[in-house]
Amino acid sequence: MAGIDLHAHTIYSDGTFTPPEAVDLAAERGLSVLSISDHDSTEGVAEAEGAAARAGLEIVPGVELSTVHDHGPVHLLCYWPDLWDEEFQGELRRLREDRWTRGERMVEKLQALGYPITFERVREIAQGNIGRPHIAQALVEAGVVPELKGAFSDELIGTDGRAYVEKHALASLDALALVKRARGIAVLAHPGLRWKKELPVPDELIERMAGAGLDGLEVDHPDHDAAARARYREMARRLGIVATGSSDCHGTRYDPVRMGSETTDPEEFARLKSRKGL
Ligand code: AMP
Ligand code: MN
Ligand code: MN
Ligand code: MN
Repeated sequence: MAGIDLHAHTIYSDGTFTPPEAVDLAAERGLSVLSISDHDSTEGVAEAEGAAARAGLEIVPGVELSTVHDHGPVHLLCYWPDLWDEEFQGELRRLREDRWTRGERMVEKLQALGYPITFERVREIAQGNIGRPHIAQALVEAGVVPELKGAFSDELIGTDGRAYVEKHALASLDALALVKRARGIAVLAHPGLRWKKELPVPDELIERMAGAGLDGLEVDHPDHDAAARARYREMARRLGIVATGSSDCHGTRYDPVRMGSETTDPEEFARLKSRKGL
């Protein structure tokens, strides 16, 4: 069985590939299953499904929800939700609208600090759903920082940055309940990720979420070291939930293009599917 990659972004959030481009690359790299899981949007799913039918690949419809716990970011992957669920789509719309006004405010703050970027350019880069990587790209273009990562600093748009603006986000347990009401399967994304000062998701929250219906943990992720992988694999086993592995591909935004660099064990994928009744 070829690879299963359950986490990828497209131009509908902060990835650089269109959904068909993502599907083509997945097929080229020998994947048999790909989840399109954009931040706060399911807009890319239908396009991906069209392309996947031609490429003989299975698409897992997904979305990565921005949630917050104790002021820290917690990303929750939701697979196979009822895509037409009014409440679910209403919340996604609200999250995207907030990303827009928040993006504008971060650009205003950067301008006030003297950095020569415009919201117009950020909008062009984002083509819709605005995230910090788009602002980071505008800062690279303006010569403020040499590469994207440099923008996620205390001076600029890092979480403690001078120009950072928080985004509207659901409390993690509320987001989980929302996913369940939309009949989605919930997997905690990269629980051990530490971009900069971000702390890993507290174990206590993971346990509470498991008690509230969390279906899985993203154990294998490019930003998890060997120790984190071993720890989360054991935690998933102890909690009786599924252990996934995914690349979190953002296209060419981050080097190298990660598509298929991390994959999910077919048996674990089968367990995830059976939780959905598939
Ligand atoms: P946002 O959801 O708009 O707050 O942007 C968060 C996104 O920015 C994440 O999903 C990553 O793709 C990216 N990101 C966050 N922190 C960093 C960092 N330190 N370096 C590079 N990319 C980052
Ligand atoms: Mn991202
Ligand atoms: Mn994430
Ligand atoms: Mn992601």
